[in-house]
Amino acid sequence: MSSRNIRLSRSIVGKLESEAVSKVIEQSGYLGMGDEVRLFEEEIAEYLGVEPWRVTCVSTGTAALHLALECSLPAGSEVLIPSLTFVASFQAALQANLKPIACDVNPDTGLLDLADAQQRITPNTGAVMPVHYASNPALCEHIYDFAKRHGLRVIEDAAHAFGCDFNGKKIGAFGDIVCFSFDGIKNITSGEGGAIVTSDREVARLVKDARLLSVENDTEKRFQGKRSWNPDVKRRGWRYHMSNIMAAIGRTQLRRLDEEFAPARREMANLYRKRLAQVPGVELLKMDMQNIIPHIHPVRILGGKLKPLTGMLEQAGIPTGSHYKPNHQLTLFGGGKQHLPVSERLIGELLTLPLHPGLEMEDIEFICTTLIEALGKLK
Ligand SMILES: *Cc1c(COP(=O)(O)O)cnc(C)c1O
Repeated sequence: MSSRNIRLSRSIVGKLESEAVSKVIEQSGYLGMGDEVRLFEEEIAEYLGVEPWRVTCVSTGTAALHLALECSLPAGSEVLIPSLTFVASFQAALQANLKPIACDVNPDTGLLDLADAQQRITPNTGAVMPVHYASNPALCEHIYDFAKRHGLRVIEDAAHAFGCDFNGKKIGAFGDIVCFSFDGIKNITSGEGGAIVTSDREVARLVKDARLLSVENDTEKRFQGKRSWNPDVKRRGWRYHMSNIMAAIGRTQLRRLDEEFAPARREMANLYRKRLAQVPGVELLKMDMQNIIPHIHPVRILGGKLKPLTGMLEQAGIPTGSHYKPNHQLTLFGGGKQHLPVSERLIGELLTLPLHPGLEMEDIEFICTTLIEALGKLK
């Protein structure tokens, strides 16, 4: 057991976030959705390089996915989703009265396999929801052609990909509907939180209302410090808005992202890749690390050694993760009646290594050395 206290992931928050929250409490005293949220939305828009109306902040990344689906698709539609994702993506489809259709993934990247997805298209398919697994936005190259060819909407689950670039543009700066998560361990956090970014004015209007019980134009009123006392309500709605307290944390984190968090995450992931690239029995996921801010760093452990290796790392004080148990194996989504061979094989190989800006480069070195030694013993 080493004396290092290595965590798999954690929030990186401190004095700056605490001062920002204190300011909301002591100076404004308005904790609900007001100026801080408006400013956070404006600053996200500026960061992404889009107009402010496109950005809507909500209470979680899951709420973002739910509202994006709810406000862009008729109830009963089918949504193509890679099975290898956080259960949030699948639950969001159910919340929006839609049917999640589990699809297989590419073994080299863990991203949605478009050939598999294509086979699952029916007259009821309304959308495809690519997941930028491990912050890899490579599917953007093909997903919009695919969607156009089949007349589908695209709802990007970009929970891992805040701050990532694709072809010189930020994820969220192009496309149909893009959802981010700001939960505690994501690239930036607002405590909990999420955002919907869309190029569709009607979707933007609907999600802004739907986060406040679908009280029409309540967002504008609240941003003026007012309320709507004689509103109409035409659709289902939720209490999914973001609070000023959350936005104060999020605004602080956004200012730290490019200077502090992004270089740290990149440097650590690149060191993992350098040290593990030639190790027999370890396979790196294929991705262009340039312009990515890695949220997690899973590697593949071949030859049936994942389980014993995980145990040996744990013994050495190194926690690891498994992202993710395929959704089609969960009871609610069929309990494994469906067979998706690549997802099923991958989850028996994928090992998520510790990655967050609170680690030192020596921790990464130690993790690599320990992993290589342990694999040697398992020969
Ligand atoms: C974190 C995450 C979500 C959900 O975000 P929350 O803010 O935790 O609700 C959705 N999809 C993926 C892939 C995630 O990692």
